[in-house]
Amino acid sequence: LTCLETLGINQLKQGATFFSVLTGNTQALGDGAEFSAHSPIDGARLSQFKNATPSQLHEVNKELQEAFAILRNIPAPRRGELVRRIGEEARKYKDELAQVISLEAGKIVPEALGEVQEWIDVCDFAVGQSRMLHGLSIVSERPGHRMMEQWQPLGPVAVITAFNFPMAVWAWNTMLGLVCGDPVLLKPSEKAPLCALAMYRIAQNVLADMPDIPKAVVSVMIGDRELGEAIAASDTFPLVSATGSTAMGRAVATTVAGRLGRSLLELGGNNAMIVSKSADLDLALRAIVFSAAGTAGQRCTTLRRLITHTSIVDGVVERLTKSYQSLPIGNPLAAGTLVGPLVDEDSFARMQAALATAQQQGGEIICGGQRVTDGVPAGGFYVAPAIVRIAHDAPIVQQETFAPILYVLTYDDFEDAIAMQNEVPQGLSSAVFTENLREAEYFMSPAGSDCGIANVNIGTSGAEIGGAFGGEKETGGGRESGSDAWRNYMRRTTNTINYGGDLPLAQGIVFE
Ligand code: NAD
Repeated sequence: LTCLETLGINQLKQGATFFSVLTGNTQALGDGAEFSAHSPIDGARLSQFKNATPSQLHEVNKELQEAFAILRNIPAPRRGELVRRIGEEARKYKDELAQVISLEAGKIVPEALGEVQEWIDVCDFAVGQSRMLHGLSIVSERPGHRMMEQWQPLGPVAVITAFNFPMAVWAWNTMLGLVCGDPVLLKPSEKAPLCALAMYRIAQNVLADMPDIPKAVVSVMIGDRELGEAIAASDTFPLVSATGSTAMGRAVATTVAGRLGRSLLELGGNNAMIVSKSADLDLALRAIVFSAAGTAGQRCTTLRRLITHTSIVDGVVERLTKSYQSLPIGNPLAAGTLVGPLVDEDSFARMQAALATAQQQGGEIICGGQRVTDGVPAGGFYVAPAIVRIAHDAPIVQQETFAPILYVLTYDDFEDAIAMQNEVPQGLSSAVFTENLREAEYFMSPAGSDCGIANVNIGTSGAEIGGAFGGEKETGGGRESGSDAWRNYMRRTTNTINYGGDLPLAQGIVFE
């Protein structure tokens, strides 16, 4: 594993066990139970850790508070310089970083490189933002007074991430959090701890040359759900950003709300595409295959429901089936592979259970769903992406199964298609393929898609930095990475300044 050597990750261990508590000043083993992370590619053990524990969190919190006391006074453009250099360092090691993603998350090389590019892109975005943390100037009703609004650093931010975007989600939060003046503690998925060490290493390489900035501003603790729960409960974090399943988000949000903290949630999706009878089908088919089968169906924005006009559904399914049957499935590190493995055996079991349930609920499997063992590394869970025709209101269709299953549903009236699109509890990403301007505008109108992302003539997945990313309903309501997402990481103060010689009260109140 030369990427671990080149990135210097192999130095972050004692014996065979990697450190689980890393703050730049402290690098220590966890105090808790031992665990191993395995590669989805072939099931091989990649790393061994010990869980960091809630009592170790207590120590780290002190370092984060001390780091915050310094970072908040460093001018934002200087904090932007830190992020600029982190982006440069990530550019330098792009190939190696992508390799760590492929090893831990099973992504094909082009998608892993794309994820590192997302990190680089958000660095560029955040550097610009560091000179644009704009407040407001407000007129006052009182003579000799003026008002203004300022945005101030918030405090240490905790970031809990999922396995499937181990670098990009951390980068969205951390690069903006840093320019806003907040130290960031990452608790990565137990399935992708080496990615966390790689990012830590890149950031610490840069921090070593910027002695005015405390090293703990980029910290990592590696542990399980118990550590995540302790983070959610800790007053140290005015903001907890959590990405993962809806069940996890519900637990985190409840705990954080209990102490009146803020949570920023990026949870499950159940994304749909409407294919109108006027659609450019050549474009639509390419978008469907990338959105539904790409990343082996393991993106939060993966296309899960295809809502197709009845008059064209047979042709669409036939062409899709042909494409699906020629998809190269295999080792994600091999050139030409388009579909890599599922993350683990549990994920495979959940996919099989969902397919069985779909059949019980009247669904017909058109193709795929079976495990692939020929021409793929032994020990990994490779599957043929599945297409299932089923009724839109079958209960299984309302759930997110984190695997490549595409449910094909049909509609006659466009209004019904919109209703179907919106009838699930999740609200992340959506798309319409149409050449009809009225349909496209209706889809984006107040009565259209209820998702955070509503695309026209492109698929549901593959968002770019710059737009706010996130979704409604059970997706959690958070918005990250672009637009005004920076405000999540700051607190707002309203200042009223009296430059006159009198003390008039608001609303004309007389108190004398
Ligand atoms: P997961 O919910 O199993 O785990 C995510 C993280 O939460 C892990 O770090 C885990 O240790 C932690 N965790 C679990 N229970 C917790 C608790 N009670 N308190 C605190 N932390 C806890 O998710 P996963 O399997 O790694 O990822 C897949 C899921 O993530 C899918 O549902 C997918 O849609 C979602 N996802 C959403 C987005 C988005 O931006 N909306 C992005 C990526 C993934």
